[in-house]
Amino acid sequence: MSTGKINVQTENIFPIIKKFLYSDNEIFLRELVSNATDATQKLKALTSMGEAKGELGDLKIEVKVDKAAKTITIKDKGIGMTAEEIEKYITQIAFSGAEEFVTKYKDKVDKNVVIGHFGLGFYSAFMVAARVEIFSLSYKEGSKAVRWECDGSPEYTIDENTTKTDRGTEIVLHVAEDSLEFLENSKIEGLLKKYCKFLPVEIVFGT
Ligand code: ADP
Repeated sequence: MSTGKINVQTENIFPIIKKFLYSDNEIFLRELVSNATDATQKLKALTSMGEAKGELGDLKIEVKVDKAAKTITIKDKGIGMTAEEIEKYITQIAFSGAEEFVTKYKDKVDKNVVIGHFGLGFYSAFMVAARVEIFSLSYKEGSKAVRWECDGSPEYTIDENTTKTDRGTEIVLHVAEDSLEFLENSKIEGLLKKYCKFLPVEIVFGT
């Protein structure tokens, strides 16, 4: 297991993100499902180019709510990420730039622009989650499954001792006490209808 620190200047960017985007906190699901869709589409493309060799299999994206465990899981069977890729794409993002921008233009800009522009999509998870885990296995031959965990402080842990054996990524949101409404099936179903209706990959919702 190793630990690392997300590259931010202030101690904690998450409260800023959370506060800034608060009124739109439900967009986390759209962002995570859209990442899952991208990962699935990338795998299809790599397969058709002959660069990914494995069986595509069933590519449905699953969204699950476990009310007792207070978790929401978004699971795809896309390209997955290696430990290096998680470090690179999830944690070494140019947060300092986003932070400055957000602080400066808090009231003036379209929130979606900020999220899109700075690639904060994944971090919108922290608008509703106190802790986020990523379990991932890359499509690349010989890859080891990885588990990443972060509780909203810039410190995170990443380790290879996970039992995940199927290709793709699972994002597990440990829902924060102030966001428990998102553990209602009807709420998640409503959001999937609102934001995820016309995606090129099938999304299934179950508990
Ligand atoms: P963006 O999607 O705008 O690039 P994100 O913060 O949402 O920004 O994601 C950062 C990167 O992390 C993505 O570009 C992708 O490389 C990687 N990533 C996120 N979610 C997944 C996923 N489910 N499967 C594979 N890679 C992912």
